[in-house]
Amino acid sequence: MRLDRFIESSLSYSAQKVRELFLQRLVLLNGVAVLEGRGRISEFCRVEVAGNILQAREAVYLMLNKPQGCVSATRDTKNKTVIDLIDFPDKENLHLAGRLDFNTTGLLLLTNDGKWSRKITQPTQKIPKTYLVQTKDVISADYVRVFAEGIYFSFEDLTTLPAELTILSSHSARLTIYEGRYHQIKRMFGFFNNEVVGLHRLSMGEIVLDKNLAAGEYRLLTAEEINSIN
Ligand code: URA
Repeated sequence: MRLDRFIESSLSYSAQKVRELFLQRLVLLNGVAVLEGRGRISEFCRVEVAGNILQAREAVYLMLNKPQGCVSATRDTKNKTVIDLIDFPDKENLHLAGRLDFNTTGLLLLTNDGKWSRKITQPTQKIPKTYLVQTKDVISADYVRVFAEGIYFSFEDLTTLPAELTILSSHSARLTIYEGRYHQIKRMFGFFNNEVVGLHRLSMGEIVLDKNLAAGEYRLLTAEEINSIN
């Protein structure tokens, strides 16, 4: 929204009155006086008019090392949620940028910035997500080819995008996928009737789970990490 229109509608002032406020240097945008209001502002800009704060919401971006046994949701009637792990003012305004299953661990991103999280979750963005996978049965070399070719999911009537599998040992592998279908990795291994017994997300795009975060711990993202999503 344009800054001048925002002030007009917030204070029920005329366009003329708002123009005068600009000329009197009474409008501060992110702490700096601005002389005209044609520029667009986001929901996270701080807007002050004649000493009154009209909007001062900060954008928050967190990474959490999700532990097993909690729900990737903001509310749940039965189980602990990832929000319960966070001690942050305004945490009820946070949402998840991509979910993990109840027992999946690792990188989970939380934010109050819907525009940013949509860039991560929109399928068209094809953000790579890398996981460590542990399986019940042996992972054979066939998996690498089949995952790279894509697997047909009849429920959605689609074929998964080419995924990159690196076999690490007889029962473990690193897998990068470029979408986020429901239980995608478990279903991909399910193609071979091989049960996933451990799943841990290492990274999303250029954002890598911080090794210093123990399960259940979180930290703010750096500016570089935030800006890597565009
Ligand atoms: N794929 C799954 O099957 N589960 C997850 O939690 C993430 C990806």
